[in-house]
Amino acid sequence: MLFVVPTPIGNLEDITLRALRILKEVDFVIAEDTRLSGNLLRHFGISKPLVSFHLANEHQAVEPIIAKLQQGRKAALVSDAGTPAICDPGFLLIRACIQKGIAVECLPGPTAFVPALVASGLPCDTFTFWGFLPHKKGRQTQLQQIAALPHTVVVYESPHRLLRLLEELQVHCGPERPACIAREISKLHEEIVRGTVAQLLSHFSQKTVKGEIVVIIAGKS
Ligand code: SAM
Repeated sequence: MLFVVPTPIGNLEDITLRALRILKEVDFVIAEDTRLSGNLLRHFGISKPLVSFHLANEHQAVEPIIAKLQQGRKAALVSDAGTPAICDPGFLLIRACIQKGIAVECLPGPTAFVPALVASGLPCDTFTFWGFLPHKKGRQTQLQQIAALPHTVVVYESPHRLLRLLEELQVHCGPERPACIAREISKLHEEIVRGTVAQLLSHFSQKTVKGEIVVIIAGKS
């Protein structure tokens, strides 16, 4: 059995009681960064064998993990932060488990895009989660597609590319399109800035942008 276990995106209090119980009960933990997840487990008084599973080794790592699960061992899949498989490794292993008839259970828990979307105050009845935009090839095409959508779009972006993204959104969506930047969610310096694309650009142009960022863009009206 494979349990997919979301872990905090900032505030360690966001780990769920069920996540802690599952992490205590499994035979081993599959982690994106074994050192980081080892520290998290230690914080909660849990000691488990850790197996590495990250973007660079995930293709080779699937088979040996599947073999262990087929022997009847239970595992928890965690990523560095948030929900595995959401812009993190996980999909390949989950798909392989399903194909081999191994039960997969995903616990509800922390992820960055849900609190960002909800706190934005933009409609969240229908939305598109876009993940990260490509840095080069296909970026402008995807921005055009985002700009044309009639509903809210959620994008993950790194702090040093935020100003570039806001400038691009000014071109593709227009300066008056409502948007929101959710920065450092659940951390000490959490900041939620709501306004038009032009207002957000002006706000973030005044200082060095740091921390983790989710961008929420209103749909085309
Ligand atoms: N698996 C994670 C999830 O469930 O949200 C996402 C992992 S992805 C590699 C990391 C990106 O998620 C960051 O670049 C940022 O866009 C977003 N993110 C993660 N933690 C965040 C936080 N505390 N505040 C704002 N955005 C965050």
